[in-house]
Amino acid sequence: MNKYQMLIGGARVDAASGECFESLNPFTAKPWALIPRAGAEDVNRAVAAARAAFQGEWRKMTATARGAILRRFADLIAADAARLAEIESTDNGKLLAEMRGQLNYIPQWFHYFGGLADKIEGRVIPIDKPGVFNYTRQEPLGVVAAITPWNSPLLLAAWKLAPALAAGNTIVWKPSEHSSVSALVLAELFEKAGFPPGVVNIVTGFGGEVGEPLITHPDVAMVAFTGGDGTGQHVYELAARGIKHVTLELGGKSANIVFDDADMDAAVNGVVSGIFAATGQTCIAGSRALVQRSIHDVFVERLLALAKTAKMGNPLEATTQVGPVTTHPQYQKVLEYISIAKGEGAACRLGGRAATEQGPWFVEPTIFTGVAPDMRIAREEVFGPVLSVIPFDDEDDAVRIANNSIYGLAAGVWTQSIQRAIRVPERLEVGTVWVNTYRAVSYMSPFGGYKRSGIGRESGQDAIGEYLQTKSVWIDVSGTTRNPFVMG
Ligand code: NAD
Repeated sequence: MNKYQMLIGGARVDAASGECFESLNPFTAKPWALIPRAGAEDVNRAVAAARAAFQGEWRKMTATARGAILRRFADLIAADAARLAEIESTDNGKLLAEMRGQLNYIPQWFHYFGGLADKIEGRVIPIDKPGVFNYTRQEPLGVVAAITPWNSPLLLAAWKLAPALAAGNTIVWKPSEHSSVSALVLAELFEKAGFPPGVVNIVTGFGGEVGEPLITHPDVAMVAFTGGDGTGQHVYELAARGIKHVTLELGGKSANIVFDDADMDAAVNGVVSGIFAATGQTCIAGSRALVQRSIHDVFVERLLALAKTAKMGNPLEATTQVGPVTTHPQYQKVLEYISIAKGEGAACRLGGRAATEQGPWFVEPTIFTGVAPDMRIAREEVFGPVLSVIPFDDEDDAVRIANNSIYGLAAGVWTQSIQRAIRVPERLEVGTVWVNTYRAVSYMSPFGGYKRSGIGRESGQDAIGEYLQTKSVWIDVSGTTRNPFVMG
């Protein structure tokens, strides 16, 4: 079992306490790596290193030089993508094929935001006062705490690190305790890329022991968080005490809406990919399939036929389509929701049980029909391979059901009508709408939630603004002295 070290101030270190915890391989449920179990003392050291780096070399560097380091870092990730993908797949159980795709794509975030670094510009304001020159500067915030979940460890970290660093901030990153290995391996590449020591620090451990002292540390200016909405609310409350900047990327209960004028093959495919890809463990999972009543039964038959073919197995094998659930508590939670749905009277048409013959934490791809919008299975995030099919009558009904959620992360719309393809996205209370596709993201397009799914945007040009603050500078060029008792 390999023992990994954290990254603080450019040095590879153990936790101050010397303690470690085990990271489990979800396919075998066996420990495969040892991770430092950090605490408040490690957080203090990491924040001090990040603060010193922010006030030192990093701050003095030109934005062009900063961008060049980000792009070098992108190239180093690309060169190491295969190894990093295998580590992620072993640590979090997602398909190697999916992780390879992600790792090959992650460099784009660092190229894109590296390119943006020297395009952060202020404005000259044609101010309404004679003899005054007024302009703005876009300045970094300082030390950013990045807290990430286990489901796509490096991708979701890249969404934070790339814009935060491009904007000139420094970072203390806390990966999930369930999937820290790839972060600690990536640590090697920061120095190679030329980041000065302390610009990126990584501390590992648990939410209460590392996350909380990090969020409440007085020298942390911003918290960029991805995780569950309950944790997100707590993080928001803690950050509020220090009036910190916050972005929150939280959960969802996304509706994948199939109209009767949809291309049926494409829609079936899109609904299956929306819920069963990544074993349903994505924030954007299309966990509610809203299907127009006129095609409901035919659609469900075709959905069942395709979903049935999903091959469960070892995530490292190329033929596997559905891997294990990543953690034991999550596995239990998924099974509990299946039993809640059965208890609520939903009809289990596929799966509905643990697939222990595949491995300790497997759950069969599961489809419920006859789901009413007020059932818990239709309202709460399961974060697993469980789909609720809900019928609707017409467009108004579909929009009403889709919007009847505390969440607002994403939605899918399947239709061949150009009018509907434009009309429906406008009415949906979500941060992302896919029409005739699902589960697409890019470094170029803003991503984030409405309602309880979050605050702020990641990716695209919107993202860099989250990591900047505006300073307004006034210069009197009149050469006169003004009345000191009247506002100028
Ligand atoms: P989680 O909320 O349990 O944990 C996320 C991170 O927060 C982890 O690093 C964890 O250690 C830390 N944490 C936990 N308690 C904390 C505390 N008290 N203070 C500070 N930090 C704390 O989420 P998870 O189970 O790792 O991930 C699954 C959730 O993440 C799902 O709800 C999913 O929808 C959401 N998610 C959202 C997005 C998005 O972009 N919107 C993307 C992926 C996952």
